[in-house]
This record gives sequence, C-alpha cells and structure tokens, in this order.
Amino acid sequence: MSDRRSFLKQSMIGAASLALAGPTLARAAEASGSSGLPAARPRVISTWNFGDAANQGAWAVLSKGGRALDAVEQGVKITESDLNNRSVGLGGYPDRDGHVTLDASIMDGNGDCGAVAALQDIAHPISVARAVMEKTPHVLLVGDGALEFALSQGFKRSPFSITPGAVQAWKEWLKTSRYHPVANSEESTYGLGKHRGDIHNHDTIGMLAIDAHGQLAGACTTSGMAWKLAGRVGDSPIIGAGLFVDNEVGAATSTGVGEEVIRSAGSFLVVELMRQGRSPQDACREAVERIVRKRPELRHNDTQVAFIAINRAGETGAWAIQPGFEYAICDGGDRHGLIKSASVLSA
Ligand code: ASP
Repeated sequence: MSDRRSFLKQSMIGAASLALAGPTLARAAEASGSSGLPAARPRVISTWNFGDAANQGAWAVLSKGGRALDAVEQGVKITESDLNNRSVGLGGYPDRDGHVTLDASIMDGNGDCGAVAALQDIAHPISVARAVMEKTPHVLLVGDGALEFALSQGFKRSPFSITPGAVQAWKEWLKTSRYHPVANSEESTYGLGKHRGDIHNHDTIGMLAIDAHGQLAGACTTSGMAWKLAGRVGDSPIIGAGLFVDNEVGAATSTGVGEEVIRSAGSFLVVELMRQGRSPQDACREAVERIVRKRPELRHNDTQVAFIAINRAGETGAWAIQPGFEYAICDGGDRHGLIKSASVLSA
C-alpha cells in the first residue's frame, strides 16, 4: 500500500485508535486546540532497522501524552546505548587514528536546536546536544569544548572510549587503510551477524516524532563515517543538513554519506519542498534526485544517502539513492515495524 493511501486509511481509523490509546492521549489531543496546532495522532519514525527498538523508547513517552522533544531524546538514547551498534554511540567505529568521535543534534518544532560534534567519551551525545540547546545561547559545540561543557553539566566520562570489537575492526582496517564507504545492500541485516565486510562503516539514527499536541521534534546521532579523517564532521550535527524541524510544515532527517547531504542542505530542502505542497515521500524523492542530478557518479560508486520525513498531519515518507535503506515507524496502531524505502536505483 502506498504511504499516502496507508496514511488516509490511518486517518480514518485514527480517532478510534486514539480513544483506544487511553484517556491520557485523548486528553492531550483535546488540549492541543490551545497550542494553535491541529490535534494529531502521535507517531514516530526513524532510520534503519535499529530504529525499531529506538521507536519503542520514544513511544513510551508519546503514548503517555508526552512531548515529541522528550520522545526523540529518549528514543535515540536506546541506540546510543547499544554497544553492538557500530555506527552510533560509543560502540561505533573510530576515525583513522582510533578515536571514536560522536556527532548529534536535536531540534524542536518551534526552532530551538542544539548540537555537538567530535565529542568523545560521553555515552549520550544527544542529551549534551539538548543541554547546548537549553542551557547555552549557542547551537553547536565541538571537540574538547563540547566535552568540557558536558562535564560541567554533570555528564559523566564513560569508563571506556572504544569497544574491543571496534578496536579489532580498526586494526583490521589499518592493514589496507582503504577508505570507501559502502552502501547497505538489500541483504544487509544489522545485528544478525549477516553483513557484508565493512557494510556498517556508517549509518545514523535519525528520529522524527509528532506528539498528541501536534508538536514536532527530531534527533540525529552517529559516530559518523568509520575511518574518517580526524576532525571530520558529517551532516548529523549540522542543523538544516542532517536534521530540520518546523512545526508549520514538518520535519526531515538524513543518513548516508554526510558530505552529500551537507552540500545540498538536505533536511532543510526536504522541509521546504513540503512547505511548497509536496508530500513527505515526494519531498524526500526530489531531495535525493537533486543530489544525484548534480553528481551522477553517485549512482555507480555505492554512495548511499537517504531521507525520512513527516509532515504536520503525520504523513510520512522516505527516499534513498541505493536500495537497502529501511526505516521504522510506530504509532501505537497497525502502523509499526520496518518499511523498505524506495530508491533512485530501484525506481
Ligand atoms: N550521515 C552520517 C555521517 O556522514 C553517516 C550515516 O548516516 O551513514 O556522518
């Protein structure tokens, strides 16, 4: 079923499901009249198959009538905590010098945002990004300054800064020192041990949520590209590239080779396309196709870029360059689990 059609079906059963979801959500939805935003059915979407577990964390907040901002922070913290995840959090692969450096951003639908880049030794960069948003006049803190700020806010230094598995993979990589980000393929199955060589040398958890008050929020967190140059920062902590949220329109986030996303101000572009009337799916498609039109070689060199998006009505969509990208959805109803994204190379 197309995303559009399934959304329409979902809207029809939305009111009934909201009632089933319990009095808390129903009350929150009623109250949203006063926020000036339409009452919404809460929903969360996030990138890749590890997004499924993350969505459960977000849903624990949304299903109780909680804020989208709290939901996305709680949700992606689950992925950051998973030390078997080689592309998010302290379990991630290091840069070429053997250092795990983390990038993260968070944005509220009212325009508030915060981010950190090249942060080391902290388990939850997303929470530091939120502290940057809420406790400082700044948007982005990097490197040692970000770590110093985190410690000043009571975040604890992790007892380890890299996992044994990541060290082993890094030593293996040093034998060739070949740098070539590989796109996830159809058969890639994160966490099941069935993956192709260095296939998990990147992947970000990007999460977007709408709460019962009609408020949107997004979060994005990653260890970035494995074996990157020291000091390299990707799209994930760059507001407008890896993440953009606007209550007036919708929200978007990205995964894949961050340089391509930064070059196109990708997530901002997706939101602006939705502002012009495109559906989330169409907006993601146009943003990806624009990247490929400018750099046709991306079709052939395994480069992956993918966007997911949600609009203020709760419609969702995604598009990628390569097949193999999937995203997870949860709304407490019959829309939950993983969805295979359409892609340029399979369209
Ligand atoms: N976008 C991330 C980065 O470039 C990596 C990924 O999502 O695959 O750092």
